Amino acid sequence: MKHNHIYLAGIDLYPQPATLKDVLITPLQLVDEPLQFDESIAPGTLDYAPDIHQVGPLPVKGEADLLVEHRSSNSHVHDIRLRAQYTGNFEILCARCVEPVATSLSGDFDLIFRPEGADAVSGEHAITEDETEIGYYQESGLLLEDVVREQVLLSLPGRTLCKADCQGLCPRCGQNLNLAQCSCDKAPADPRWNALAGLADKIEVKVQVKH
Ligand SMILES: [Zn+2]
Ligand SMILES: [Zn+2]
Repeated sequence: MKHNHIYLAGIDLYPQPATLKDVLITPLQLVDEPLQFDESIAPGTLDYAPDIHQVGPLPVKGEADLLVEHRSSNSHVHDIRLRAQYTGNFEILCARCVEPVATSLSGDFDLIFRPEGADAVSGEHAITEDETEIGYYQESGLLLEDVVREQVLLSLPGRTLCKADCQGLCPRCGQNLNLAQCSCDKAPADPRWNALAGLADKIEVKVQVKH
């Protein structure tokens, strides 16, 4: 999302607050002290997945620390530990009728990121017990928004339904059967519509950003 700036005599009349897009964490920043952040991701900033979009701001608050792994007497690896929490409102498409379902998601995470290639080069194994909690950051640094996006996606329920007994779409004409019955007979269905409920993950949700 791009903001328009209005300048008068060289002064930005509407300075925009830093967004999560700007939060790039590098080990160098963390040498002296941890980095505290308290950001809010505006809706439309992150593309999550075709069947989910963010409604309203997503606050993210946390801290990044530097962890130095001493792998041998002359080998050090600079890890970034990222701890944060987020909470926000989303719309997820119903797996049966493809209508958006209001869903609030929140979570907290405590993750360790190593420099990309650190493990491949050394051939040594991670010192932490839980391998799944290890991620990697690129030479340029760790982009906070990438981590938040991934964590939100990981927190999604396996299957979202608008209601437990959602009637889905008519397999013949595509009518949303929660809203109205159609006049199709209930004889063997046209298989073309069977695929429609599965389309939720293929439909691109365009998020309109209003100013
Ligand atoms: Zn439904
Ligand atoms: Zn029908």
